[in-house]
Amino acid sequence: MIDYKGNTIDSDQDPDLLWACKGGGNGNFGVVTELHFKTYPAPQSFSGYRMKFTNLTSDKFVQLIRLWFQATEKLPKEAFSAFVLNGKFLTILFTNFAANQTDFEKTFSSLLPFVSDYKPMKNRNLAAALKNYYGVKEPIYFKNSSAGLYTGIEDIEKGLEDIFAKVVASKGMIYQINTLGGKINEVKASDSAYPHRDINYLSELQAYWDLPSQEEKLTKSFEEIQQLLRNIGNIKQYRNYPDINFPDANNAYFGNNLARLQQLKKKYDPNNLFDYPQVIK
Ligand SMILES: Cc1cc2nc3c(=O)[nH]c(=O)nc-3n(C[C@H](O)[C@H](O)[C@H](O)COP(=O)(O)OP(=O)(O)OC[C@H]3O[C@@H](n4cnc5c(N)ncnc54)[C@H](O)[C@@H]3O)c2cc1C
Repeated sequence: MIDYKGNTIDSDQDPDLLWACKGGGNGNFGVVTELHFKTYPAPQSFSGYRMKFTNLTSDKFVQLIRLWFQATEKLPKEAFSAFVLNGKFLTILFTNFAANQTDFEKTFSSLLPFVSDYKPMKNRNLAAALKNYYGVKEPIYFKNSSAGLYTGIEDIEKGLEDIFAKVVASKGMIYQINTLGGKINEVKASDSAYPHRDINYLSELQAYWDLPSQEEKLTKSFEEIQQLLRNIGNIKQYRNYPDINFPDANNAYFGNNLARLQQLKKKYDPNNLFDYPQVIK
C-alpha cells in the first residue's frame, strides 16, 4: 500500500495492515497497489434449486419466511440459499456444490408443497451452471444497500407484515435475505476487520426503475423500509452494500472492530488525506 507520504508499506512487515484490509480497506488508509490471494480448486459440480411462489398474501409470506429460516438454520458448508421477495412474487434459491444431493434435498422439502414453479438443476458443470445467474449487460437504474445482518428470524419477526406491505406497494422493490455461515464463520472474528463472521444471514434491499422520474418515489419507500428495520433493532450493516444514509455508518459496518480501525487510521493516515463521507475518522 502507498501511504499518505508516498511510502510503500507491505503487510509482510506490518500485519496490522493485512488485518485492516480484510474487511476494512475501503480507501481508508492509503492506495493498495498489490494483493496476493490464496486460490482453491473450483468445485467439480454444482446444483441449483429454484422455487417460485406467486400471488403471496401477507400470511403466506410470513409462513414461507418462517419455513425458510427453519430450512436454512443448519445448511451444509457447501450450500447457499437466497430468499427474494419482489412484490407478491417470491423466489427461493438453494445451491450446493457437494456431490451428494439426496440428503440436501430434504433440507427444503417443507417449502415444496407451496411452489408454483420448481426447477432443480443437478450436478452440472460449475462454469456452465453459473451462466444461469448472469445479470443483464446493459446499464440499469437501481439502488442497492444492506438491509441488516440477522442472527435469525427473531431479528425481523416484529416487522414482517410491514416489510411485505411496503415491498408490495413499491413496484421495483426487492427485499432479499442471503445465508452466510459456512466457511465465513470458520475464521475467528479477531483475524480480520470484518466483524460479522458469527452472523447467519445478510439481507439487502434493491430498487429498480425505468425512468429517472421514478427514482424519488422508490428512494422514499427504500428509506421507509430501512427505517422500519432500524425501528425493530437492526443496525449492523455489510460494508460492501453501503448506503450514504446509514446513521452511524462506521459503527454499523465495523462494530467491535471500529476502535482498532480508528487507531490504524491514526497510524497510517494521521492527517486524513484519504477522506470521503464514510471514511474511518
Ligand atoms: C450490482 C452489484 C452486485 C454486487 N453483489 C455483491 C455480492 O454479491 N457480494 C458482495 O460482497 N458484494 C457485492 N457487491 C458489492 C461489491 O462487492 C463492492 O461494491 C466491491 O467491493 C466494490 O469493489 P470495486 O473494486 O468495484 O470498487 P470501488 O467502489 O472502486 O471500491 C470499493 C472501496 O474500496 C476502495 N478502494 C478502491 N480501490 C482501492 C485501492 N486501490 N486502494 C484502497 N482502497 C481502494 C474505495 O475507496 C471504496 O471504498 C455488489 C455490487 C454491485 C454494484
